[in-house]
Amino acid sequence: MAARQDLYQHPDYYLMDEMLSDEHKLIREATREWVKRDVSPIIEEYAQRAEFPKQLVKGLAEVGAFGPYIPTEYGGAGLDQISYGLMMMEIERGDSGVRSTCSVQSSLVMYPIYAYGSEEQRRKYLPKLASGEMLGSFGLTEPNFGSNPGGMVTNIKDMGDHYLLNGAKMWISNAPFCDIAVVWAKNEAGRIHGVIVERGMEGFTTPETHNKWSLRASATGELVFDNVKVPKENLLPNKSGLGAPLGCLDSARYGIAWGALGAAMDCYDTALRYSKERVQFDRPIGGFQLQQKKLAEMITEITKAQLLTLRLGQLKNEGRATTAQISMAKRNNVNMALEIAREARQMLGGMGITGDYPIMRHMMNLESVVTYEGTHDIHLLITGMDVTGLSAFK
Ligand SMILES: Cc1cc2nc3c(=O)[nH]c(=O)nc-3n(C[C@H](O)[C@H](O)[C@H](O)COP(=O)(O)OP(=O)(O)OC[C@H]3O[C@@H](n4cnc5c(N)ncnc54)[C@H](O)[C@@H]3O)c2cc1C
Repeated sequence: MAARQDLYQHPDYYLMDEMLSDEHKLIREATREWVKRDVSPIIEEYAQRAEFPKQLVKGLAEVGAFGPYIPTEYGGAGLDQISYGLMMMEIERGDSGVRSTCSVQSSLVMYPIYAYGSEEQRRKYLPKLASGEMLGSFGLTEPNFGSNPGGMVTNIKDMGDHYLLNGAKMWISNAPFCDIAVVWAKNEAGRIHGVIVERGMEGFTTPETHNKWSLRASATGELVFDNVKVPKENLLPNKSGLGAPLGCLDSARYGIAWGALGAAMDCYDTALRYSKERVQFDRPIGGFQLQQKKLAEMITEITKAQLLTLRLGQLKNEGRATTAQISMAKRNNVNMALEIAREARQMLGGMGITGDYPIMRHMMNLESVVTYEGTHDIHLLITGMDVTGLSAFK
């Protein structure tokens, strides 16, 4: 397969760049250049082969995509939340699977170790995770508990000098090659705790999940624990209960809201360019009203989402973004991106289904993004609960 030429130009209909700092723009450009150079030429082939491009790990670490907002003393980039968002936007513009790896590493592994971990745990793991020397995974979902993680059956038993961990997690991004896993398990009293499980611990296995039509360039698997002896110092000491994993999800969902925007902008940009070049009935298809309707609606939705997401970033920087606000942005942006991918795919006619263009890959990827980190329906129920004060999901 010939390497694809990446001609991406980002849409900025409402001159949103004027609302970004020079540092934000520099970070965005550096990430974009890296994506154009290292991701776009190879990603289609890896997705077709259903293989995670491991060689990207070094570059991701170098652009600061592992722990962008983790303080520099722990190896992070020490940036603000808008910088984190812009990075996720650019990386998902390349591929949702590559962005998933960053979300897991930053928000689901580094964040809990930073926010809930001991000083020893921070110093032991964070610098290696930031440099990509170590890759992590996050085990919350189980075969029988997806949208309702509080029902989990994975458990730890206090054995005096260690914990004994039993159970299984399913649908875990990065599982097949992770060096460590942040695993959520109930203790004897039914309280949820996070423990750090390391590859090589006896009884810990990570079988890969095959046959995915979506996120094919991201590895997914199970985490299986059969009487795994976890040292006591591997328990995250500073937060327990369901709120602990949900706090990580807030951070990851925030990044996904930005990321989905990137995928949508790539689909729009591709369809816009194609509509000016492809001639049918002696004129570019972009001159037909029906195609203009699609493009006009796409840029309207993208512009609305850009505004929503930047405002959320400002609130996040001030520590004021609520879980429900993040839910709204994740749900809106992923759904918007999925609809744009479907429309853009049609605009490319038969070419839209090929790997010569990124749209079909984005479309299939987004089918996972709309489901993981809280489904489209669950996020709607979170908004419903927030405005009424009444829970409709349990
Ligand atoms: C590619 C991929 C990667 C993933 N990576 C990770 C990871 O790294 N770590 C991790 O822990 N998990 C991960 N997940 C799991 C993901 O978060 C779950 O798939 C998701 O939370 C949904 O759970 P479920 O698949 O069990 O669906 P279910 O919870 O069984 O839901 C099925 C359907 O029922 C609906 N539903 C459920 N409850 C209600 C209700 N109360 N009211 C109305 N409708 C409802 C849902 O919206 C959905 O449409 C990943 C999933 C995928 C596909």
